[in-house]
Amino acid sequence: MTTPLHGQMMDVPLTVSSLLAHASRHFGTTEIVSKRIEGDVHRYTYRDCEKRAKQLAQALIALGVEAGDRIGTLAWNGYRHLETYYGTTGFGAVCHTINPRLFPDQIAWIINDADDRYILFDTTFAQLIDRLAQRCPRVRGWIVLTDDEHLPAMRSPTPLVSYETLLEPHDGTFDWPLLDERQASYLCYTSGTTGNPKGALYSHRSTVLHALGASLPDAMGLSSRDSVLPVVPMFHVNAWGIPHAAPLTGAKLVFPGNHLDGESLFELMETERVTCSNGVPTVWLGLLNYMKEAGVRFSSLQRTGIGGSTCPPAMLRTFEDEYGVEAIHGWGMTEMSPIGTLATLNWDQSQRPPEEQRRLRENQGHVIYGVDMKIVGDDGRDLPWDGVAFGELHVRGPWVIERYFQKDDSPLVNGWFPTGDVATIDRDGFMRITDRCKDVIKSGGEWISSIEVENLAMAHPAVAEAACIACAHPKWSQRPLLVIVKHKDVEVTRDELLALYEGKVAKWWIPDDIVFVNELPHTATGKLNKLKLRELFRDHVLPLQREVPNCPHSKRGAAGSGSTPAPE
Ligand code: ADP
Repeated sequence: MTTPLHGQMMDVPLTVSSLLAHASRHFGTTEIVSKRIEGDVHRYTYRDCEKRAKQLAQALIALGVEAGDRIGTLAWNGYRHLETYYGTTGFGAVCHTINPRLFPDQIAWIINDADDRYILFDTTFAQLIDRLAQRCPRVRGWIVLTDDEHLPAMRSPTPLVSYETLLEPHDGTFDWPLLDERQASYLCYTSGTTGNPKGALYSHRSTVLHALGASLPDAMGLSSRDSVLPVVPMFHVNAWGIPHAAPLTGAKLVFPGNHLDGESLFELMETERVTCSNGVPTVWLGLLNYMKEAGVRFSSLQRTGIGGSTCPPAMLRTFEDEYGVEAIHGWGMTEMSPIGTLATLNWDQSQRPPEEQRRLRENQGHVIYGVDMKIVGDDGRDLPWDGVAFGELHVRGPWVIERYFQKDDSPLVNGWFPTGDVATIDRDGFMRITDRCKDVIKSGGEWISSIEVENLAMAHPAVAEAACIACAHPKWSQRPLLVIVKHKDVEVTRDELLALYEGKVAKWWIPDDIVFVNELPHTATGKLNKLKLRELFRDHVLPLQREVPNCPHSKRGAAGSGSTPAPE
């Protein structure tokens, strides 16, 4: 056996602190602007940010926090939260971002599961902390992300201290230690729509590689000429990596705090000359509605990243046709740090007719370097990339989870992570999510894509939100039921909506019934809560008069589809 010839390059670890150190040194005067909870705007630079992050590291070390200890945050997007990202990970502690929109029971469970040493929280969450503190006895202290002047009146937690008072005795003279790049950096829990949430523990290496991937031109395409506003919360999968990709590229950062209504977002985008912004479809809906009503237009925004759940095609069109803003649809998940795919077109695709390009861009798109994917049928075999066969999407890569925090069993299947999403992949490697495995509707053993059915409904101007769920059926086992929230001022009937499907989808995909409701249930991350919806409609009786046309794929259609016999 010959020993391998190793390269002779420096073995510099990829650490999270190196991102901020780079920004501070090379983009030291670039601004970080934050709308504060109090309503005023705070601005400072990457250089200031690094100094304060170092002060925080000194303060936490003085409190006895050690490498590997978890520090929780319950906070909006803002400069103090950013300092916490770096002031914890920078010396080897783990930054554990907690979603405040979860139920208090779940939050307490998560804090205890993570074994958080300290929790840093925004003043808006004071009451929540009051309810939680007793139930989290191992938390040593609660730090309010404010100064003494703005400390909220609180009942319980001791010791309670303001963030500014904590930082004050420290001068920021501190060298980031050279950590092992495989050390843990961040801990993010999935939302736990079914069962208890599960923790994904990122490493320094995975965080930095993800930030590099996220910055690429066919991903967020960030540069030092950008002003980027993450609307996606820093408690939701690290705001999709923007707090790392921005210092890496030198982009200006603009934080909206808790001011997430359409008008506030629009004003901040305009005053800070924002060029790029990212968020879930629900947020964009609010912004677009406001802009339509107010009759205003963007003057600096060039592109938006839309992900977290399927982006309704109508939204992509509105951004592009009405406002000239490129809208990029992306897919990912907590277990993937989160970026997996993005729907930007390659050279060949961008030469195709405009309508085809649009249809392609409604997909979830291609992977970025660092992620590999495949689709797998019920029998565990790989399915072809023909844009037709659909099966469970499996992924792997250096920023994909290997196992969950505190869990011994590996979720991997032959070295790949099963995402729980159902997808097709076409010849160009463009992926399209058709469903979550658990949301798929199986009619006579054949799969119906609830997302396709919802997208068609969403294209009607009267439809504000649509959810398609499986409803029990005596003959076909399940049939699709469409639940609609209507815009207040536009009328539409059930039959008009059903007519939308004629000629657009296979007849047996057309919903058996449509129900109008005032609102739909959502999860803590703003996604449709189909589990709850299925519970609500468990006893719904479908109209019997409707005949279900025979399924054309009567002997198992698309590879990997249903497991029970198809209707004959
Ligand atoms: P949770 O909702 O559990 O917090 P994530 O935020 O990690 O978890 O959500 C990941 C899931 O969100 C994906 O597995 C997928 O089902 C869904 N998702 C994310 N982006 C998209 C998208 N662009 N289109 C469709 N579904 C998406």
